[in-house]
Amino acid sequence: MRGWAVAALDLVFPACCPVCAATLGAGRRDPLCGACWDGIVRIDPPLCARCGLPFFVFADSRSDSDERPGFPGAPGASGSGAAQTCGPCAAAPPAFDWARAAGLYAGPLRDAVQRLKFGRRPALARPLAALVLEQCAAAMPAGAVLVSIPLARERERERGFNQAALVAEHVARGLGAPLSPRWLARPRATAPQTELDAAARRANVRGAFVASTAAAGADVVLVDDVLTTGATAGECARALHAVGARSVGVLTVARVL
Ligand SMILES: [Zn+2]
Ligand SMILES: [Zn+2]
Repeated sequence: MRGWAVAALDLVFPACCPVCAATLGAGRRDPLCGACWDGIVRIDPPLCARCGLPFFVFADSRSDSDERPGFPGAPGASGSGAAQTCGPCAAAPPAFDWARAAGLYAGPLRDAVQRLKFGRRPALARPLAALVLEQCAAAMPAGAVLVSIPLARERERERGFNQAALVAEHVARGLGAPLSPRWLARPRATAPQTELDAAARRANVRGAFVASTAAAGADVVLVDDVLTTGATAGECARALHAVGARSVGVLTVARVL
């Protein structure tokens, strides 16, 4: 970014980090400071080829095992040499074809996503999209079309913006990929998912999305801020597959474990 633009941004957001309030300093990824950027726990392979679950989750929960994370022997890991899937995906594959998240929904990344969403800090979409590009660009099929997951209309009206759409705009620009936010609509409001368990989340969003037939034959990549149980992304994927999308992937900034 040009010097004058940074100076202008510093006027709007005094050059201190919206997450930790420190001055931005070395390694800054405006408006995130270098320390918060470095403190983000990235999700790296090995991970489930389907849902992107990092296999170190299994390693952490297997204190009685000396097996290495993510390799044959991890629960649900299938095949040798072939792409591996986690136990839950092997038992009941999600409606989306693949999902990748840039980092864990914890620490500075959780704080940054919450500030973006609830703290009216849309400028945070830029470093969060950069994180997605750094960590997940390789997962994108060539020629894919990005679609941000829509908010319910009332939710977007009270927030003033859709954080997923902001991130998607930056990711699309970074990749030079097309963005088609109108391929998905959310005609009816649903209760907030926060307090619900996985089954209740699926029931809550069932039928909430309508896909455009313009998505027929396309490789669609859904963009959202956080993947929790995957219920919302799964419902979007179902709607897109129903109109004939060739594949539906999911890119998120963060993933809840
Ligand atoms: Zn910071
Ligand atoms: Zn999986």
